[in-house]
Amino acid sequence: MYDAIIIGGGLAGLSAAHRLRHRNILLLERDNRFGGRIHSERRGEYWLNWGGHVYNGPGSATGELLASVGVDSTPVPGSLSGLAMNGKLITDGRVETYPFRVPMSWRDRAALVKAGAKVRLNVMRYAKIAAPRDGEDYRVRQQRIYDFLGEQTFSEFVGELPNDADALFRPTVSRSAGDPEQVSAGAGVGYFHLVWDRSGGLSRNIIGGPSTLTETIGAELGDRAKIGAQAHEVVHARDHAIVRYSHGGTEHEVKAKYVVLATTAPVARDLAPDLESDVRDALGKIVYGPYVSAAFLTNETTRQKWDDSYAIATPKRAFNVFFNMSSTARGAESHRRPGSSIMAFSPARFARPLIDLPDEEILDRYYADLDDIFPGFPSLVTEAKVERWKQGLAYCFPGRGRLQPTLTRRGSRIMLAGDFLGTWYTETAVQSGFAAAQDILSALAVPASSPQLEIAGMAAGGSHV
Ligand SMILES: Cc1cc2nc3c(=O)[nH]c(=O)nc-3n(C[C@H](O)[C@H](O)[C@H](O)COP(=O)(O)OP(=O)(O)OC[C@H]3O[C@@H](n4cnc5c(N)ncnc54)[C@H](O)[C@@H]3O)c2cc1C
Repeated sequence: MYDAIIIGGGLAGLSAAHRLRHRNILLLERDNRFGGRIHSERRGEYWLNWGGHVYNGPGSATGELLASVGVDSTPVPGSLSGLAMNGKLITDGRVETYPFRVPMSWRDRAALVKAGAKVRLNVMRYAKIAAPRDGEDYRVRQQRIYDFLGEQTFSEFVGELPNDADALFRPTVSRSAGDPEQVSAGAGVGYFHLVWDRSGGLSRNIIGGPSTLTETIGAELGDRAKIGAQAHEVVHARDHAIVRYSHGGTEHEVKAKYVVLATTAPVARDLAPDLESDVRDALGKIVYGPYVSAAFLTNETTRQKWDDSYAIATPKRAFNVFFNMSSTARGAESHRRPGSSIMAFSPARFARPLIDLPDEEILDRYYADLDDIFPGFPSLVTEAKVERWKQGLAYCFPGRGRLQPTLTRRGSRIMLAGDFLGTWYTETAVQSGFAAAQDILSALAVPASSPQLEIAGMAAGGSHV
């Protein structure tokens, strides 16, 4: 019998497995690679990227994981808040000046200044609420964040905006994979906090590309982590759990003292039919928004307008942010190397018209807009590849905070991990993976003859069944 089986080889599952690596464990990953929504590929000094790209650093769970695995990250060198809109490209200066530097009507400007002031004031309130407090569990901090402006949508919060003002707000809020009409006001404000204030967390790149982290953990686990292994069912037994999965055309049934379900919420719900009914209900209420992303490798030999930027918002385009993934490599060079690695993506309502189109059509639409913003861009491209994410991100909708106590309740033999348990994306994935692993380590450390010391409710065959 395994001490623990981890289902899902994304960042949450890999974080749990890394913490449990000295135990008898098995990790099952359905796809033919580790990483889930983290996916990058090396191209010489650069890497192409399609999923999670900016990460937390020292002082965070991600920082702890990176240090423990031996993978380096570095602050993103370029600006995070560029803007290309209405024929104007802005890559420097304070965001408050943007309404006056982008061509738009005075009505739009006035609406932007008014809504911008409201958002800025609440970004400051959010920063205070989101700041960690000594000794507190990440789940307590997370609940406080969910409760901040958590009962209305971002659209209701800023009020109706004229077209250009709306277009300028939308790319940032939509990066959470929900539209401003769907996302809670607090979550929308939180995203502006991330983009405007580097102390918000997600402002580091993993050197060599994000898959360096996930692949390194996968390699460290050796044959205890299987790719191409799809779990079909996880059920409780009296003093263990049973996992059924297929791998290499063979069906397997294995036992474990504990199981970590580190998939997306709907998959976790389907896999574990005997989870407590309120937990299954809560999992069923998590909503995901889609993403389409594309990575481009270029071959220019001279400086480009994007060189000093990392992220440029691109309202009214097929994609809504342009990322210079070569920014990190550029920060480490003494003379400009040829080429760049660029990612562009379309979340939420920008993804829906694209996600079922053939790759060529998606690329054509991206090229048309890229050529408008950076004339000649398509002629520089030597490689381009699209990726679709139907369950791109679980966004925070009004009332989401009320599900949190149920989803993070401890004591089951079958535990949940994954970014849907919080608002910090990869950081939540790592935190929830670590938390599940820590609960398992504590329970395993207790002799079997002292069931009263096991995780509450777990001893008698799992009281949460
Ligand atoms: C385009 C894009 C950009 C993003 N940018 C950022 C960013 O810059 N910063 C950031 O912090 N976050 C970002 N994110 C979010 C980030 O990628 C996720 O929060 C994080 O990777 C989620 O990790 P996870 O382990 O919770 O889930 P996942 O990565 O989804 O992992 C779940 C794993 O479970 C596997 N699985 C599913 N079913 C089964 C089964 N039956 N049996 C076995 N395995 C199964 C899946 O194949 C998958 O590998 C981005 C996401 C997208 C899509």
